[in-house]
Amino acid sequence: MTPRTQAPAATHCPYCALQCAMSLSPTASGASGPALKVAGRDFPTNRGGLCRKGWTAAELLTHPERLIEPLLRGDDGELRPVSWDVALERAAAEVRKAQAAHGPDAVGVFGGGGLTNEKAYLLGKFARLALGTSRIDYNGRFCMSSAAAAGNRAFGVDRGLPFPVEDLGAADTILLLGSNVAETMPPFVQHLAGARAAGGLIVVDPRRSATAALTADGAGTHLAPAPHTDLILLLGLAHVVLNDGLLDRSYLARRTEGLESVARSVAPWWPERVQAATGVPATLLRETAGRLAQSARTGSCYILTGRGIEQHADGTDTVTAAINLALLLGLPGSARGGYGTLTGQGNGQGGREHGQKSDQLPGYRKITDAGARAHMARVWGVPEAAIPGPGVPAVELLASLGRPASPEKPGGVRCLFVHGANVVVSAPDVTAVREGLRALDFLVVCDFFLSETAREADLVLPVLQWAEEEGTMTNLEGRVLRRRRAVDPPAGARSELWIMHRLAALLDAPSSFPDDPETVFEELRLASAGGLADYSGITYARLDAGEALHWPCPDAAPGAPPHAGTPRLFAERFAHPDGRARLVAVRTPAPLPAVPTAGAFTLATGRLLEHYQSGAQTRRVAALTAAQPEVRLSLHPAAAAQLGIADGAWVRVRRERAVAGAGLPGPSARPEPVVLARAELTSGIRPDTVFLPFHFPGLAAANRVTEQRTDPISGMPEFKTTRVVVEPAVVE
Ligand code: SF4
Repeated sequence: MTPRTQAPAATHCPYCALQCAMSLSPTASGASGPALKVAGRDFPTNRGGLCRKGWTAAELLTHPERLIEPLLRGDDGELRPVSWDVALERAAAEVRKAQAAHGPDAVGVFGGGGLTNEKAYLLGKFARLALGTSRIDYNGRFCMSSAAAAGNRAFGVDRGLPFPVEDLGAADTILLLGSNVAETMPPFVQHLAGARAAGGLIVVDPRRSATAALTADGAGTHLAPAPHTDLILLLGLAHVVLNDGLLDRSYLARRTEGLESVARSVAPWWPERVQAATGVPATLLRETAGRLAQSARTGSCYILTGRGIEQHADGTDTVTAAINLALLLGLPGSARGGYGTLTGQGNGQGGREHGQKSDQLPGYRKITDAGARAHMARVWGVPEAAIPGPGVPAVELLASLGRPASPEKPGGVRCLFVHGANVVVSAPDVTAVREGLRALDFLVVCDFFLSETAREADLVLPVLQWAEEEGTMTNLEGRVLRRRRAVDPPAGARSELWIMHRLAALLDAPSSFPDDPETVFEELRLASAGGLADYSGITYARLDAGEALHWPCPDAAPGAPPHAGTPRLFAERFAHPDGRARLVAVRTPAPLPAVPTAGAFTLATGRLLEHYQSGAQTRRVAALTAAQPEVRLSLHPAAAAQLGIADGAWVRVRRERAVAGAGLPGPSARPEPVVLARAELTSGIRPDTVFLPFHFPGLAAANRVTEQRTDPISGMPEFKTTRVVVEPAVVE
């Protein structure tokens, strides 16, 4: 690895959506370890701070397991190095073969929320024009889709935080639902300081997470509802706001629609009934609603959501209930607060704006919208009919892998390209996902390590890492940032842009597929122009001059000063055609089934401070793996005592339905999915709930027991309420 210059490169962290600013400098000559030194850089999101993941990120660049040549699986089942020409010609031949036999949708693409804007954009174009398939979706479906669907429904657009993160500093009350920022993005905690100082940090989480612990010593309140009752809690808060006359009537009349139906829908959720369902005392519910309303009237109040309430099979409705509460209090678009969702993946925001989603075209346009299709046809220089219609969301796409056509269902995907995702660890029901991958005729995985998904591939294409190429990312505030090349990549690795450029040529694709990031960004500007997420006024030159611009940022008219971007959305109007936000009545949630089996719990999965997503990167960083080497199941001591499980003992976690007899596999069916973990006893979790981090592979993969059950609106899988049984286990 050769540093590009001796001057520090100003860039951003490769991991989460906070996109902390960092500089990368060459280490002294002869120094051991990483050839680049990481330093925090001042930026509104991190103010110079980094978490452990950011500090150690440069280790990945010199990691000995780095892939540096394409690998093709031979007839003997082994992956062996081949030239790029052989690799790409084989991939193109497999595409042709699958489509000749089964039609254009027999080829699929699975993308990632960590790809740069340029790659996410070109991947959408590559799928639809070079491959001619509708079958593209991405792992952001597991992350942001419920919040995106709810935001679109309420506001007409979704941008994680529709205000700059520094606005939170002025808040005296922040209601944080289902987000453990103290572990997932530690530098963010500084933005909670104002609310904590005012005693107004209210954290909703069934666990006493590191973030919930920030409410100690008078800094706020921790509400720990029973599993899968977060929606009821929100209905109860809205009930109190309405019943006690705490709503902002003037705002609601001027800026919203739908008050009456929401009022009807929350009427049955009086505090004592909510207490019975959630376990949260009615008095605390009233106090919380009162605090929120007081702050909204006279101070500064924000409502923020995270994956804890979003990753549900009714996640869109749960987020909608949070947005309804914010609207009742008059917050969105107001100078006194707002609503936002804390995006998870590094480019979770940009990744869902440029056409990587099955239902969207660049600029946050609906793929079914005739005007959007006509616009993209003009930008791409193709007939409108050349752009396929909507595909299917990620879980459905994965469930279709290798599936033959049937009278009920069209044939599934037979050849799949995976970019920036490790679905064998991160998708729900990874055993079924692995079976699907193995049923494919051909699997191509682009990655820089031999991830668990890459190990299943027929062809592995080694790609560049974050500090080896230019590009842009869009952080959780919709702020577009420059990612910079600080080092030369290894000789054998290539950018995904180059791979798509070459493959498009081999497939005789219409339109052009540039391999230069700035050229791709210039095309993205045209593609997004006039859309909700308009990047047309953003250029590399402006970003290189030190600007980091929030979208929408339209191109200025000739002679006019450049647009300054839009840090705050909704100040004047929402994005619906009439400019008004929508309150939406949500379905009454069905209660979880009663616990029928000894040792049965509700399992929530989530993240640890030291690891990121599937762990494909962070499990390769020595300091991070030393701190968190293996999966641990958080279990309450009282529950553990009943089961005879000691702290540190091995336990087996399996789906409850297998024990109860429903859907038991027959003798020749696949083995019952089981997770092996060590027990970590903690009184910070409810006795009816257990928690597993999802960063680990193999028998340690939490997603062995999660299910392919999804939200009908967003396609989000249910990751927070899997019914499991925990038993002592003996591990040799
Ligand atoms: Fe910042 Fe997230 Fe990177 Fe940590 S992982 S340094 S919080 S961007």
